[in-house]
Amino acid sequence: MAQLIVSKFGGTSMGDAACMLRSAEVSFKQGSSLIAVSATSGTTNDLIALGKTSESQSWPEAEKILCKIQDKHIKIANDLTISQGAKDKLHTLFDEMNSLAKGVHLLKDCSVKAMDALMSLGERMSSVLFTEAMSQILKKNGSSKTAELFDVRTVLRTDDNFGKAKPLTSEVAALCREHLSFLKDGKHIVCTQGYIGMTDEGMTTTLGRGGSDYSAAILAEGINADVLEIWTDVAGIATTDPRICPKAKPIKEISFKEASELATFGAKVLHPATLLPAIRKNIPVFVGSSFDAEAKGTWVRKDVDDHPLIRAMAVRKKQVLVTLSTPEMLHAHGFLFQVFRIFNDHKVSIDAITTSEISVSVTLDDSTLLNKRLIADLSTIAEVAVEENLALVSLIGNNINHTPGLGKQIFEAISDINVRMICLGASKHNFCFLVKEDASSEAITRLHRSFIEENAEEMA
Ligand code: ADP
Ligand code: ASP
Ligand code: MG
Repeated sequence: MAQLIVSKFGGTSMGDAACMLRSAEVSFKQGSSLIAVSATSGTTNDLIALGKTSESQSWPEAEKILCKIQDKHIKIANDLTISQGAKDKLHTLFDEMNSLAKGVHLLKDCSVKAMDALMSLGERMSSVLFTEAMSQILKKNGSSKTAELFDVRTVLRTDDNFGKAKPLTSEVAALCREHLSFLKDGKHIVCTQGYIGMTDEGMTTTLGRGGSDYSAAILAEGINADVLEIWTDVAGIATTDPRICPKAKPIKEISFKEASELATFGAKVLHPATLLPAIRKNIPVFVGSSFDAEAKGTWVRKDVDDHPLIRAMAVRKKQVLVTLSTPEMLHAHGFLFQVFRIFNDHKVSIDAITTSEISVSVTLDDSTLLNKRLIADLSTIAEVAVEENLALVSLIGNNINHTPGLGKQIFEAISDINVRMICLGASKHNFCFLVKEDASSEAITRLHRSFIEENAEEMA
């Protein structure tokens, strides 16, 4: 039996008709069985703007954004010369977008639930167009397979945490068995949406920004895929973000553990949760460029051949440092329990943490501060200080906590940059520290030179 391959294409790979046809050609060559696509690039941001504008400004202002979104999709539809059936589907989605935006405008209320319904339209529109592109590529190549549009909400059951819903793994597996088992016959290519899901009550949810990677991984787990492919605008996972450091180079192979750290600590190329399902089912993940499918790309696997001390580095911007201090922590117990209970009650995830005898500091995404009750609740147990405009810089590799001299090399490279907090020891794969956000790119550039570029020169 042929391999079951799940492929995901991101927003830039859906950018216009040419991008869609190129991505469909990649899928055809790879033999993808199930393809999850993102919204066309920029559309999710436009839909968010539509929600906010409908809520707070005049209807003509909202209508301008509506028209912009429609025009962009109509242009792709015309360039692809799509079928009448697909045109009808697209116009039904335009009507839904109009009604939702009008509802938000009349109520002057864009709840997270309403925003999820609006944002889901991005992936629902792009998948209609991509299915047409896929059909054309199959026909062009004389394939007997058929491309079928599938509403991912049929199988991607989630909880009701709108805006960042959690997939319900066992429900998804059962629904995939019920609705997608036919994929095994190798006659069909299912084209579906990334990013979106549905609650038990039938409400549309989203998995959080950049969540299409995660959707594809959940679907790969659900159908027991042999391979998960993430097709994007760069030729694989690089030693750091090529936008920060042009000398970043693609990594051939990286372990699940290292890649998970990299994604969690800011490498946008993978949504942080993407590797969880792949790890659970030991599904190898390929990351490649839909613009240059011949480039080697990166394989992410459980076991890899080499284990360099520093494989890659990442930066996670928009961080705040929250420091809680209380003399009551002196020789006392239970304080950290109270702190974590409050974070847990607010469903807030902490990235890095350090403690002293009477204080504890944690890093959080700055969006967390929008929740005023969190700080109010923390203030009931300690004095709270918040520092903003910070970034977490991470070095990812192997045996990091057992290598003498590593700290020296790191701090020599960035000797004139103030380091606000350091985290080392919890993971042998990660060393991270906090700097002012405006110094973070410089820190990455210097560390990349010291650990990756100079290392490569020595080996040459
Ligand atoms: P997509 O729309 O395909 O999901 P994203 O913009 O979410 O694409 O992710 C791809 C981007 O991730 C790249 O253009 C690159 O700037 C950024 N990126 C950050 N860190 C890395 C890294 N280590 N390797 C490759 N790309 C990275
Ligand atoms: N379209 C969504 C976003 O822009 C999800 C994704 O592209 O992964 O965040
Ligand atoms: Mg992405």
